Amino acid sequence: MHELSIAESLLTIVQEEITRHCLENVLSVKVKVGKFTAIQPEALSFCFELIIEDTSLKGVTLDIEVLAIKGYCKECKEDFELEDPVRICPKCQSWNVRIEGGRELYIESIEVE
Ligand SMILES: [Zn+2]
Repeated sequence: MHELSIAESLLTIVQEEITRHCLENVLSVKVKVGKFTAIQPEALSFCFELIIEDTSLKGVTLDIEVLAIKGYCKECKEDFELEDPVRICPKCQSWNVRIEGGRELYIESIEVE
């Protein structure tokens, strides 16, 4: 499963951050995920919950914020957000669209008690 390997790398990063900043009593981890990554937020938090079971992070929640796909139309110079990764301008229906966001995947913050 795609999400399991992502959850594992998130866990590695979180553990490194905890060690580096001597964090204690971590409550939640906030991550931002672009829609274009095709990650299912529910599946990702489920996998994360599963793999932290046997670690000191047991009980920590994964707070996932899904970021929209951002597009830029080269025809009408318009910025817009896309619900689906369809490269079409909602204003002029042009296909001459550049995708500028939606591939993000990063840890925004680690919340401690
Ligand atoms: Zn356009």
